[in-house]
Amino acid sequence: MSWITTIGLEVHVQLNTKSKLFSSASTTFGAKPNTQVALVDLGLPGTLPVINKQALHHAISLGLALGSTIHTKTRFSRKNYMYPDLPKGYQISQDKYPILTGGKLTSTLQDGSSHTVTLTRAHLEEDAGKSVHEGEAPGISGLDFNRAGMPLIEVVTEPVISTAEQAVAFLKNLRNVVRCLKIGTGNMQEGAFRCDVNLSVRPDIDAPLGTRAELKNLNSFRFIEKAIAYEIERQIDALENGETLVQETRLYNAEEDRTYSMRTKENADDYRFFLDPDLPQINISPTTIDAIKMALPELPWQAQARFENDYQLHRDQASSITQDPGLFDAFVGMVADQPSIPPKLLASWLTGAFAALCNKEGCSIEEAPIGNTQLGELVARVHDETLSTSAAKKVLEALWQQPQNSVDGLIDALGLKQNNDTNAIEPLVKQVVAEHPAQHQDYYNGKEAIFSFFVGKVMRASKGQANPKLVTELLQKLLKEPPTA
Ligand code: MN
Repeated sequence: MSWITTIGLEVHVQLNTKSKLFSSASTTFGAKPNTQVALVDLGLPGTLPVINKQALHHAISLGLALGSTIHTKTRFSRKNYMYPDLPKGYQISQDKYPILTGGKLTSTLQDGSSHTVTLTRAHLEEDAGKSVHEGEAPGISGLDFNRAGMPLIEVVTEPVISTAEQAVAFLKNLRNVVRCLKIGTGNMQEGAFRCDVNLSVRPDIDAPLGTRAELKNLNSFRFIEKAIAYEIERQIDALENGETLVQETRLYNAEEDRTYSMRTKENADDYRFFLDPDLPQINISPTTIDAIKMALPELPWQAQARFENDYQLHRDQASSITQDPGLFDAFVGMVADQPSIPPKLLASWLTGAFAALCNKEGCSIEEAPIGNTQLGELVARVHDETLSTSAAKKVLEALWQQPQNSVDGLIDALGLKQNNDTNAIEPLVKQVVAEHPAQHQDYYNGKEAIFSFFVGKVMRASKGQANPKLVTELLQKLLKEPPTA
């Protein structure tokens, strides 16, 4: 049987704001437990929530980027449930009147094909607090309300995903849009980008959708991929063995690489949603939407097309830049600083030697001691032939250790300036050729492979400073002549 998998995603994206969604408490990550909590976050009687305008504007930017319908009249509802980390007994969320509906996001898969995920809706809601089960007081559980009331936008997709690869491609793309719009950090370790996966299988395309499981606790792309792969197998095995699946919430355990049943899923009705009487309808004016639209940055797929068409970057090179906000900002900065250098050359140093060095040193592009201005200066010295490629790599490594130095200062200090003077190189070439008459004869007889032997000798004689292009030209001219001795 060829089983068909159906996946829908719910992504909770934490929005970058100074204060919480309905209170003035700070949103800074990593503070001591319960130091960033306003009375509203605890739901104390007599306190009233006030909507954070910045969070609303972030939601509108996301909607504009994804082509969603932005609802100019939107409302909050109470989602009622009991849990220790939810002191009000309800979460302020959106039910019937979400801020965004529809929209889509297209991603490129490994084989170069495109996959489009359509969106059902996206709504604003507050985060809950956190139960803490270990730490300073072993055996005692604590509650940390710093996260209570943090602003989230929950993006819900249509069930149009059928493989782990499609799911992860969509999530990486969405996270990149969030980071590009600067509406969230997308930091998965800090829980600022969290994903629940709804997954079911059915025997063929005409069969009704199967019983679904909801996978939670997925905090890395790798785990999402593995959890989906495991769950597809588990459901197919169960059905093939004649078992009946139950609708349930399952947790992924990364160490064992399997999912466990956590609880059978309550129906949406159990939440007894109703409009929150403390929060009146929000009316968004067309002027507000227009202003946000005007301020939108260039989106990743727009930059991708521009880099390929205007700069002739290869698709994969353009995509590695547009899928990483650090590389993107660095590249745009380098192109602006060095308008006379071909962007393709700047891109290949950025995504090549520089990215490799960052990787080796275990830091991100943003954390690197070398900024895009210095990197652009280095590439300019390659372009004007002051540096050979190998000398430029040496300067790059030296610059990493001593970023306070200038590129030109280091080139001088290390004596790596390329020698482009024909009058200085020609005698070296002549001398090397004269010293190796047998090899010269071989080359003259047609053994072309020996050419690099001569290049190596001349480069060594020049202490690595001769321009290899010039050496090649001079050698070609000389070796064409028959050996004299
Ligand atoms: Mn939610």
